[in-house]
Amino acid sequence: MKYYDYHCHSNISFDGRTPIAEICASVIKAGGSGVTFTEHIECAQDFPHGGLLDWQQYHSEIEQARKMFPDFSVGMGVEAGWQPLMQPQTEAAVKAGNYDFVLGSLHYIDDLPIYNGAFSEGKTLKQAYSEYFAVLLAAVSEMVDFDVLAHIDLIRRDEQLPKVDFIYNDYADYLDPLLKQLIERGKGLEVNTGGWRCGCYEPHPAPEILRRYRKLGGEIITCGSDSHVPRSLFYRIKDAYGLIEEAGFKYISLFEHRQLKQVPFK
Ligand SMILES: [Zn+2]
Ligand SMILES: [Zn+2]
Repeated sequence: MKYYDYHCHSNISFDGRTPIAEICASVIKAGGSGVTFTEHIECAQDFPHGGLLDWQQYHSEIEQARKMFPDFSVGMGVEAGWQPLMQPQTEAAVKAGNYDFVLGSLHYIDDLPIYNGAFSEGKTLKQAYSEYFAVLLAAVSEMVDFDVLAHIDLIRRDEQLPKVDFIYNDYADYLDPLLKQLIERGKGLEVNTGGWRCGCYEPHPAPEILRRYRKLGGEIITCGSDSHVPRSLFYRIKDAYGLIEEAGFKYISLFEHRQLKQVPFK
């Protein structure tokens, strides 16, 4: 089996620090066959360059890495963050970039980050989770140009809320239509090993969400570390592939020039 890290941030992202070639060398060393970079496009006013990335630099570093590591797959993708007032700019940047792969993401609700307690402040866990999934469902319905939904239960990473077992039925009113919509639109679901790193004791999504997506007919799964620093590159990707197969999926999904390629586990 060949293993790929499909969620990775280099210093092209405002919050990444490591050059692309260095990341490729580390993933090769860790036993990976490829990495697809998913640099942030997060069109918020207070971000450097309006949340857009330096495409020229990105493209030239990717080309350089492809020459340096010819037997290793290097994908040029983006993680497009949902910003309701800036969707035209986001979609235009995604289209213009001619990327291999696009993750759709929700990181902020009313400009409040979902992961650090700002959004959940003053809410019970049930309130925070319900509001988050309701907003995510509405956001995904309006996201046009993406291949795979990233970290569907990112709210579980919230630093202020207790870490609890995830009970699907408590949020099925939001998650069932969300998963059905992804399947109907031919969009995938991401398994993100950042959950393991960020105190959730399991990757995103919770196993029940992953199994429900499969049961409803979902077949498109990418797997990534969501790494921003060298130590989390390729983090537990092999373990996650095992969980995906155990959940009943027959393929891991790869993308090149936005074209889906399904690679069987066996
Ligand atoms: Zn993200
Ligand atoms: Zn990310």
